[in-house]
Amino acid sequence: MSKRNKIKFLISCICVLCVCALLGGCGDRKNGVNLSAGEHVIPEATTASTVDLTVTALPAPTATMTPTPTTAPTATPTTAPTATPTTAPTATPTTAPTATPTTAPTATPTAAPTATPTVAPTPKTGEEGKLVVIDAGHQRKGNNEKEPDGPGSSTLKAKVSSGTTGHFTGIPEYELNLIVAKKLQAILLERGYRVIMVRETHEVNLSNSERAEIANKAGADVFVRIHANANDNSSVDGAETLCQTKNNPYNSKLYEKSRKLSQAILDAFCEECGCRKRRVVETDTMSGINWCKVPVTIVEMGFMTNEKEDLLMATEEYRNKMAKGIADGIDAYFRTE
Ligand SMILES: [Zn+2]
Repeated sequence: MSKRNKIKFLISCICVLCVCALLGGCGDRKNGVNLSAGEHVIPEATTASTVDLTVTALPAPTATMTPTPTTAPTATPTTAPTATPTTAPTATPTTAPTATPTTAPTATPTAAPTATPTVAPTPKTGEEGKLVVIDAGHQRKGNNEKEPDGPGSSTLKAKVSSGTTGHFTGIPEYELNLIVAKKLQAILLERGYRVIMVRETHEVNLSNSERAEIANKAGADVFVRIHANANDNSSVDGAETLCQTKNNPYNSKLYEKSRKLSQAILDAFCEECGCRKRRVVETDTMSGINWCKVPVTIVEMGFMTNEKEDLLMATEEYRNKMAKGIADGIDAYFRTE
């Protein structure tokens, strides 16, 4: 018999004894006389069932009594919260604002106004000091003496004539030529060129070969000869320029430059003046070209035998255009030299 059963047995015995005692001594109580207040009173309805109840009810305390420690909850320590420190906020310093200086406004100077003059000055093409020799064709009194039309040539020509005359204005060509030549001189000087004038008055006596020699001795970069044209047909108009041919017996080596100079001036002149552009005339009959040792051109600005052009060339406005046109042509020539 197990220890537990032994206890149950003892308790049962005790209960049986008690029940027996109760059953034997309850008569008097019916009389309603309580022996003592507070005494253990068992209600009347104690019957068999009561016994059963008592008995059945007894085991409960038994349990409490039996200290047989029902294997106490082993309390297998639910592995106590190991408190594995939830990696405490390591407080890894949120990289404190390193205050990396937000590159302070470097104040990159917004391309300070370079003060580039808005009004572009006239092209300073001549700043390199290019030398332009200007020959205002003819003179007040022509010189019919003869001279070779080229170095060593047996062909003789008049040294210089007085040129033509405006058929409608009566203006002498030599006057018109000098007026435009002086305007051209002013423009070229303003643009930075060096300028030598073959003549500045009408009272000179310079043959065509002598004029060329002035340009040669000066070492001109270009020799520009200013003239006006004439034709038996008064309807003929327009501008043209002249230079030697590539087969010129005296200075064919200057053909390329002279041709380019002639074309550049003709283009610029006609663009500025709005006149008819005739052509570049290549000829080896001009003493003033044949004697040249520098690039040369003759500018025939217009026909004084044509009414429209004769009248135009007599105006200050058109004269200014002619001078500017020639200057622009010289600029163009040196830009591509
Ligand atoms: Zn002429």
